[in-house]
Amino acid sequence: MYEIKIIAGFSGAHSLRDYPGNCRNIHGHNWKVEVVMHSNELDKLGMSLDFRMLKQETENLLKTIDHTYLNENPPFNTLNPTAENLAHWIFESLSGKLNNNNAKLCRVSVWENENSSATYYD
Ligand SMILES: [Zn+2]
Repeated sequence: MYEIKIIAGFSGAHSLRDYPGNCRNIHGHNWKVEVVMHSNELDKLGMSLDFRMLKQETENLLKTIDHTYLNENPPFNTLNPTAENLAHWIFESLSGKLNNNNAKLCRVSVWENENSSATYYD
C-alpha cells in the first residue's frame, strides 16, 4: 500500500455555539489541513496520484472558506465549525473529486494550532 499526503491551509474565524467557554466568542485560526490518499498500485509514471492534482483540488475547496467567518458558510451555518466537523466536510467534499480506481482518499486532519488536530477517516 502506498500513502501520499499533502499539507494545505486556510485562515478563518469561527465561534462555537453553546460552548461553555471563551471559544463561543468569535476568534480566528490559521488552520492546517493534511489530506492523505492510499493506493495499491502506481501508474506508469510511478505515482499513486499526482501531488499537483491533490494539492489543486484541496486548495480549490479551501479557497471557498479562506478568510471567511466559517459560521456563515453552509453547512457550518447550522453545524458547529469544529476541527472535527471541518475534517469531515473536507473529506466528503474531496472524495468525489479525488478517488479513482486506484487511489482513495484515506483521511483528512485539521489542525487548529500546532498542538491540536482532529482527523476524519473512512
Ligand atoms: Zn477556535
